[in-house]
Amino acid sequence: MNLEELREKIKAAGVIGAGGAGFPTHMKLAPGIDTVLVNASECEPLLYTDYVILQQHMDRVAAGAEAMAQALGAKQVLIAMKAHTAARLGCREGDAAGVSAKIKTLPDVYPIGDEIILIYQALGRIVPPGQLPSKVGVVVINVETAYNVYHSLSGIPVTEKWITIGGKVPNPMVVKVPINCDVKTVLKAAGVTVPQDCTVVDGGPAMGMPINPATARITKKTKSLLILPSEIPAIAFKSLSAQRAVRRTSSACCQCSYCTDMCPRHLIGYPIQPHKTLRAVGSEVISHPDDLLTASLCCGCSVCTLMACCQGISPSVTMFEVKKNLGKNRIGYRSTEPTTPDPNRDNRMIPVSRFKSRIGVAEFDRVAQYREDFKISQDVFTLPLSQHVGKPSVPVVKAGDTVQAGQMIARADEGISAALHTPVAGTVRSVTETAIQIASEGVK
Ligand code: SF4
Ligand code: SF4
Repeated sequence: MNLEELREKIKAAGVIGAGGAGFPTHMKLAPGIDTVLVNASECEPLLYTDYVILQQHMDRVAAGAEAMAQALGAKQVLIAMKAHTAARLGCREGDAAGVSAKIKTLPDVYPIGDEIILIYQALGRIVPPGQLPSKVGVVVINVETAYNVYHSLSGIPVTEKWITIGGKVPNPMVVKVPINCDVKTVLKAAGVTVPQDCTVVDGGPAMGMPINPATARITKKTKSLLILPSEIPAIAFKSLSAQRAVRRTSSACCQCSYCTDMCPRHLIGYPIQPHKTLRAVGSEVISHPDDLLTASLCCGCSVCTLMACCQGISPSVTMFEVKKNLGKNRIGYRSTEPTTPDPNRDNRMIPVSRFKSRIGVAEFDRVAQYREDFKISQDVFTLPLSQHVGKPSVPVVKAGDTVQAGQMIARADEGISAALHTPVAGTVRSVTETAIQIASEGVK
């Protein structure tokens, strides 16, 4: 299959980055790639989604990635995972994972799943700051994305999502649910009641976002639902507003620079220096614009907040705010030159065991089991037209239409966008600028 044919199949199936990024996968296929790197690092603690998909369907994940490699003319496919995940799956570094795909093992450190760090760790290549992985001949895809690419080859669209349900629950599990089903329906089917003193997080404990389980939905990007005590360090800082974080910086930052010394992006030589960004945010005169601009290089790992700063300042909150504002104005730090890693990087990488204890989640880390029999039923689905990076999907159905499960209900717009398919058969109840509502078959 040539590149254009594969791109059309992936586009038609509505495949986007399933690990949380949400970038339309067909847009990642560009010439000049020599390596397809499958990110199976399961970067954050408590997540077992990738592990279970590989346990159940290593062949499909490998075949999806290999199809991309073949169309791109790439010479290697690597499935990169931590050594303990490989051991649990019964494989080792260099083992065959498919026809040409091979296993690549990674150290058990945080944050190894950040694609810039992953590329350096797996291949020794450094993506120049502000550039895409394609600049160094690499395309990175998540395990579930590769699995979805495999299905797109036979015309099967994305209508299901694999997620971990974990944290303070009796039995952590990995389940497959329809996209855009309600979180409350999923938790009920899993037999999980959220205690009053807990927060539900969509994503990992450090980088995930708190959600309201009464109103939230599973999206194509949801990787997990974690139920965690609200007072543990990983959760407590998430309720801090950017305004309060900036106020704390002004009153308490001693410019010790520990946040910079431990920043994983800084350690591979990126010019990001959170202590300087914080100083610039608190200054009336900006004498070094790069101190702000380099915040665009932040990957949001929260190491500076959770592991470095002893003043309770939460530098990552300010970094996120600055990056968000740079993004709104479409500006950021760019360089064409690769960087040189800090010679002390290896000593400063954070073992996951230490990270788990420090952020307060160690006691909740148990290997999640696959619940193949997991089923939910829901009367009405509301499918947002924007659950990916780029322009919203464009509806191709109208109120009153009858739809079949898997039918495309919104196409990808021009440019960066993705198609959307209904996970259930039923009747279109409404089409608005932001969402399509479907009543399941038999529901009035
Ligand atoms: S670690 Fe905390 S106190 Fe030190 S420079 Fe960074 S934000 Fe300031
Ligand atoms: S969150 Fe903090 S440690 Fe992580 S990349 Fe951003 S500045 Fe660096």
